[in-house]
Amino acid sequence: MSTTDDTRTATLVAPDTIAALTAALARAEQAERERDRLRAVILRAGLWQTAPCCLCGYNGPGYYQPGTHDCARAALEDVKR
Ligand SMILES: [Zn+2]
Repeated sequence: MSTTDDTRTATLVAPDTIAALTAALARAEQAERERDRLRAVILRAGLWQTAPCCLCGYNGPGYYQPGTHDCARAALEDVKR
């Protein structure tokens, strides 16, 4: 995008809209941090170990294999930390 395009875009978007989008982005980022925190709690508590997985829904072969099930891999990586 050129400087001209940036300027045109800035004048076409109302300040209230920019503020609303900035606030929505902040809320989305907060929700993402909370999701990550809760995911870590579930992994550390071992709740993922009962199939189907409460995190991703997986219920197939290799459930406990890090190469097959991402949550098994994440739990293993968490233990190594
Ligand atoms: Zn899972």
